[in-house]
Amino acid sequence: MKTIGLLGGMSWESTVLYYQLLNEGVRDRLGGLHSAKILLHSVDFSEIEQFQVNGQWDAAATELAQAAYGLQQAGADMILICTNLMHKVAPVIAENIKVPLLHIADAAGRAIQYQGLTKVGLLGTAYTMEEDFYRQRLKDNYALDVIIPEADDREYIHRVIFDELCRGQFTAAARDNYLKIIAKLRQQGAQGVILGCTEIPLLVRQEDSDLPLFNTTALHAQYALDYAFAADDVAVA
Ligand code: GLU
Repeated sequence: MKTIGLLGGMSWESTVLYYQLLNEGVRDRLGGLHSAKILLHSVDFSEIEQFQVNGQWDAAATELAQAAYGLQQAGADMILICTNLMHKVAPVIAENIKVPLLHIADAAGRAIQYQGLTKVGLLGTAYTMEEDFYRQRLKDNYALDVIIPEADDREYIHRVIFDELCRGQFTAAARDNYLKIIAKLRQQGAQGVILGCTEIPLLVRQEDSDLPLFNTTALHAQYALDYAFAADDVAVA
């Protein structure tokens, strides 16, 4: 079993999920008292969020690349960035390490392709929904048509992520509004919706919707487990 390196704390609410899912996955595979081999570098999210708001992506990339290098030197066999958004700087992080960086969009893309879907909606931070770094990868590598909510809905989803979900607040009102936005995406032809922010699965669950929902936190953890147990290298970023 390989050692999983996590860049976490973005936010810690979702890093907790990674820790739990990885350990449950190892227990399911190996049984007994087995648990995952994990190294975690957890940042102060307020500092990272300030870099985002100020457009200091280079500074964020440098901090995360150094952290990834540290995890590698400590024995991590792979690195996971435990947030969709910070994959914006994934190329810089990947350049700085020799071990594979398991990209969260690949975790989503593989699962969507496996279900045979071609058109999906995407919920996440404004950066994730509106910029190319995430959608383009899904388009190029998985031939997916990725649609996003209208501007007002994008603004709402983004605000709830930072003002509520990353602060541990999960309300029925926000859940209902997210489900309404998912329903609109369905009307526009989405065959499924990517929960492309690692905190959204704490608010919206598959049982809340008839449409297939792609929980990127769980899929990313699954990707790491597949690699941790793979005899040979799986396809990586
Ligand atoms: N965890 C969120 C994501 O998956 C956003 C938090 C952040 O990284 O700024 O995109």
